[in-house]
Amino acid sequence: RSKDAGGGVFHAYEPQLHADAEERRVLEMALRRALEKGELHLDYQPVVDAASERLVGFEALLRWCSPEHGTISPAKFIPIAEETRLIGPIGEWVVRTACEEAAHWPDDVRVAVNVSPEQLHNPNFGAVVAQSLATSRLSPHRLELEVTESVFMREATSAVQALERILELGVRLSLDDFGTGYSSLGYLSRTRFSTIKIDRSFVTGASRGVPEALAIIRAVVALANSLGMATTAEGVETADELALIRVLGCSKIQGYHFGRPLPVAEARAIALRNRSATRAA
Ligand code: C2E
Ligand code: MG
Ligand code: MG
Ligand code: MG
Repeated sequence: RSKDAGGGVFHAYEPQLHADAEERRVLEMALRRALEKGELHLDYQPVVDAASERLVGFEALLRWCSPEHGTISPAKFIPIAEETRLIGPIGEWVVRTACEEAAHWPDDVRVAVNVSPEQLHNPNFGAVVAQSLATSRLSPHRLELEVTESVFMREATSAVQALERILELGVRLSLDDFGTGYSSLGYLSRTRFSTIKIDRSFVTGASRGVPEALAIIRAVVALANSLGMATTAEGVETADELALIRVLGCSKIQGYHFGRPLPVAEARAIALRNRSATRAA
């Protein structure tokens, strides 16, 4: 120990770096088996119409509950899956499962599924989506795929082609976390997105009166309107935020104010209740 102590100040940081790498490696090994062991499931978060507060759909959010490691956040395991190519089989399972589960909801309720760039660069992805729709008998227009701006950063042409194939199936596309990545407006005119999702950071900023956040939401809503696209505000947590987002003109809203991500049975119950409420009205 005494020999090492004089070795240099940087040594002090190595144990932490090593611990992080070790944790990643352990999680990666566990993630490799997670699918077959049935440790993955989807929760569903409500998306509502901003004006009427009517349910329009749910976003499927992947959950990993490991007996050994507990509940691991997607913010932690999705990047591991992406870097190890595990996102291929896992992403396929997500699309298939979301279609099967949503097929049991009323037919005006949509399901949104997150798709990583790596999945789009797989030439098989379109076939996976088509197959999931066919097997589940979910109408294509009820499925929405969420991609982030990062899909256009690398091999943009192949990403645009993959998105074209998906659009041909009748599936909708939305642009997730808009404004947080490397934004280029060119692809907004090349690819037909139905919805731009405004990242939670802008919603939070706007509600705290940050002028830049307000200006960005206004600009994105105006841009979406003029391109014939809808907007969803992410991360609406309070009634005040809802009121502000309405004034700013976002068409849809998602966030804890309306509901957290829910187990599939609860999501379905809400969807069914929503339908009878609408019929009665
Ligand atoms: P995302 O697609 O932007 O999903 C929204 C995230 O915001 C979710 O986090 C959701 O639980 C959280 N959220 C929603 N409303 C609120 C709110 O009012 N306040 C706060 N503080 N948070 C809110 P989650 O479930 O932890 O997912 C994180 C990210 O992981 C997702 O961000 C998405 O990028 C990724 N992800 C989740 N499931 C999948 C999946 O099946 N495939 C892929 N490729 N990525 C996924
Ligand atoms: Mg999303
Ligand atoms: Mg998002
Ligand atoms: Mg987000």
